[in-house]
Amino acid sequence: MYAAIEAGGTKFVVAVADHDLNIVSRFKTATEHPEVVMPRIISFLQQFEIESIAVGSFGPIGVNPNLANYGKIKHTPKKGWQDFDFLGNLKRFFDVPIYWTTDVNIAAYGELKMGAAQGKKNIVYLTVGTGIGGGVIVDGQIMTGYSHPEIGHILMQPMAGDDFKGVCPYHAYCLEGVAAGPALGARAGKKAELLEINDPIWDTEAFYLAQGVCDLTVAFAPEMVIFGGGVSNQNQIFDKIRKSFKEQLNNYVDVPELDQYIVHAGLGNDAGIIGGLLLAKEIVQ
Ligand code: ADP
Ligand code: ZN
Repeated sequence: MYAAIEAGGTKFVVAVADHDLNIVSRFKTATEHPEVVMPRIISFLQQFEIESIAVGSFGPIGVNPNLANYGKIKHTPKKGWQDFDFLGNLKRFFDVPIYWTTDVNIAAYGELKMGAAQGKKNIVYLTVGTGIGGGVIVDGQIMTGYSHPEIGHILMQPMAGDDFKGVCPYHAYCLEGVAAGPALGARAGKKAELLEINDPIWDTEAFYLAQGVCDLTVAFAPEMVIFGGGVSNQNQIFDKIRKSFKEQLNNYVDVPELDQYIVHAGLGNDAGIIGGLLLAKEIVQ
């Protein structure tokens, strides 16, 4: 059996699958203190003969095996999780290969192999929800460098007339700060879900997301940029993003047809778990 753990900022999802990747059992628990969450996950997994595990965790996390923080959660406001040795804790209970990466990377991998990007090799996956996170796949492989990408914190050129610097405590005008769900909420004075489809805030939102896609396009030349997360359920933003992207990129590089280039995730909420199970299988094959 293969296991995938999707460790999100609000909830954990754990799934166990057979060799054909049919999910045989699934388990969810809220992201409480690790002393509560870890024993729950461990006793769930101990019911099965686990051969390998893939973990996709909220971050930032240590992904560089040469650094002391490898396998750990880095700075986070979540109680108990700061510097928590996630990988080390799992290894004490499971003597099996464990793939360790970010939550967005496992989702990107799921979309690559079984979602919107099947048949492609170079993609970027962005989730726009409580934060903005992104995973980059290059030649079929998840890209990690010295650390993992933090695409949500790409710095933006402000939209003309927009003096809202955003809600990121680290940066003025970073993508997450100006365009994640809480930024929409702060602009609107109400939950983003409650905004009308034709509210002009969606034009501002599309401008910043499009600028993010421009930056990613010139940096990585992906074949597709996929949006997931709660805010991406606002279907009306996709045409706005494509239009603004065209204007901002100004035909500088070749890109695929825009309705095939800037797309909604194909696997929805399952992208992470499916990607995780695929990675768990691949590390023991
Ligand atoms: P999380 O990031 O915690 O996994 P979501 O992807 O649902 O969860 O993101 C939650 C954020 O996205 C909140 O700020 C919420 O207001 C916003 N959001 C969620 N769903 C929608 C929606 N359909 N339309 C607009 N905003 C949404
Ligand atoms: Zn930031």
